[in-house]
Amino acid sequence: MSRVAYVNGQYLLHSEAGVHIDDRGYQFADGIYEVIALIRGQFLDEKGHLDRLERSLRELRIEMPMERRVLSHVLRETVRRNRIRSGIVYVQITRGVARRDHPFPAGVKPSIVVTARRIKGPSKAALDQGVGVITVKDIRWERRDIKSISLLPNILAKQEARENSAYEAWLVGNGGVVHEGSSTNAWIITMDGVLVTHPADHSVLNGITRLGVLAAADKLGIKIEERSFSVEEAHAAKEAFLTSTTSHLLSVVAIDGKPVGNGHPGELAIKLRQAYFSHLGLEDGSFL
Ligand code: PMP
Repeated sequence: MSRVAYVNGQYLLHSEAGVHIDDRGYQFADGIYEVIALIRGQFLDEKGHLDRLERSLRELRIEMPMERRVLSHVLRETVRRNRIRSGIVYVQITRGVARRDHPFPAGVKPSIVVTARRIKGPSKAALDQGVGVITVKDIRWERRDIKSISLLPNILAKQEARENSAYEAWLVGNGGVVHEGSSTNAWIITMDGVLVTHPADHSVLNGITRLGVLAAADKLGIKIEERSFSVEEAHAAKEAFLTSTTSHLLSVVAIDGKPVGNGHPGELAIKLRQAYFSHLGLEDGSFL
């Protein structure tokens, strides 16, 4: 079956779809994106993602290209035309097409692209055994709360992780503080059973999975501290894990090759993962 993409009002064959070479997304990375997971026909926290999409646009003063309820329809239609039950839908909005010049162009309509594809979700090995991360310096800009399509530092960090056989790279700021992963939020559980993750300020993306896991942890009565933690504190933690739309919640069992806790997925992370899916009204995270 051929894949279909939505591009500025039209559903096109994915293989033939394209945007103009003067699109400011292509020229300047002047745009934002969202990725929403779909499990067995259900979007995971569509509202959270669309709220964040609108916020990212507002912060960059890019207009919403269509009403939210129309966008919501386009997401569903793209999923339907691609016959996807479990996978992801990707939305990208840029400032639009204009002759290349740095200031905002006048009278230009934003460009929007929506694609969808099947994904399998985390592997059984990653779920059962956990994953390893490396730490790298965070060389990004100071507005990481905006889900900008400008992802070069994230790409370089992820590549470094892959070249070191790690699943993710944790991005470390001044003073050795762990901000987040290249495409995931970072968490630890202290020896006292306190759940710790970086506060949602300008230095991290406020993950929608992060918000869901915080809500699930609260329901479980777990003590939560939204504060920064250092690489040293993570090394000494009882458990660690990462969260994102596509990874959901995965235990981190090694940091820079050193085991976290006993080197196996911890009890609390496993419990939280289940609680997260329950919070979303799903029995489990299976993509079947
Ligand atoms: N941080 C960064 C830098 C990311 O790119 C992502 C994924 N887009 C996340 C965190 C996790 O966010 P979410 O849970 O909304 O996927």
